[in-house]
Amino acid sequence: MADRILVDGFDRKIDYLRMSVTDRCDFRCVYCMAENMQFLPRQRILGLEELYLLAERFVALGTRKIRLTGGEPLVRNGIVELCRRIAALPGLRELCMTSNGSQLVRLAGPLFHAGLSRLNISLDSLDPQRFRQLTRSGDLAAVIAGIDAARRAGFRHIKLNCVVLKGRNDAEVNDLVRFAIDRGLDLAFIEEMPLGTISEHRRGETFCASDEVRARIAERYTLVESTESTQGPSRYWRLAEAPDIRLGFISPHSHNFCGSCNRVRLTVEGRLLLCLGNEHAADLKAVLRAHPGDSERLERAIIEAVRAKPWRHDFQVNDDVQVLRFMNMTGG
Ligand code: SAM
Ligand code: SF4
Repeated sequence: MADRILVDGFDRKIDYLRMSVTDRCDFRCVYCMAENMQFLPRQRILGLEELYLLAERFVALGTRKIRLTGGEPLVRNGIVELCRRIAALPGLRELCMTSNGSQLVRLAGPLFHAGLSRLNISLDSLDPQRFRQLTRSGDLAAVIAGIDAARRAGFRHIKLNCVVLKGRNDAEVNDLVRFAIDRGLDLAFIEEMPLGTISEHRRGETFCASDEVRARIAERYTLVESTESTQGPSRYWRLAEAPDIRLGFISPHSHNFCGSCNRVRLTVEGRLLLCLGNEHAADLKAVLRAHPGDSERLERAIIEAVRAKPWRHDFQVNDDVQVLRFMNMTGG
């Protein structure tokens, strides 16, 4: 059983699943959501047991890493127990989570004890007012307290995620690097992706390429390119001044990483998305609900869907919307 693997039509081994456990969030980040979002009604989203059953099938089919995301995964009731059950699946090597950090003061300890192995925490600004503007409702002090709670709880290799928007937070890049160095955290700078219609800004105007971010960092630090890779969109660098931390640059526009893609995404509606930049999907919730308890049928649906994974995405910088889904729907 341990030798089963999922392979797509281009012979890529798919062993990484990102699962969205909710489309809801306590923030409304300007690049991620519209101000007045309509969230999904309860009957359309997967229950906790359904999320678990899907995770179990993926792990049985060779998935080695699962990342729980959303929306904000920590606003989903029962999340700690779900983590505990998924973390215990035999064969799974890593259970990770991406969070905005707002609930970590309360939940970092329980999550660590439940078996969550890694945390990525989003942090776009160290200025309380700008943080509030970018998240529309976030409290910076609570998030920083959450980051520190995660460190105290025992999490290692915490990574901060920062979406860089020109004219908004790009001048803060080196302050964020300093913050990461002081706390011994990895830090990834993300290029904004054209997911979902937003009206707060035109994405073409705020786009900030990873090369520009690196140029700013190079004004203050010595960047050393690293050969490390996670088969994903990140490229890693280290700083001569702080060699223990990694700086990642996630550049879907300026760096195409699809050839080594090893991941698929499950939305909280139970759609398996085969590529972030394409609409190819399979409705696993329909299979699960039409044939309860039939794990063979579910496995067949997963295997068939993965075979249809497209070769690559093709984001353009200046087109505002190419994919109608919002990031909170896809599990970013
Ligand atoms: N709520 C959690 C958080 O913010 O970390 C998890 C979900 S969020 C959708 C996952 C990541 O996607 C965050 O780091 C967020 O900054 C990033 N993100 C959201 N919308 C994006 C966009 N349009 N382009 C690039 N990154 C985006
Ligand atoms: Fe919420 Fe994360 Fe989207 Fe921000 S990026 S609105 S925290 S889901």
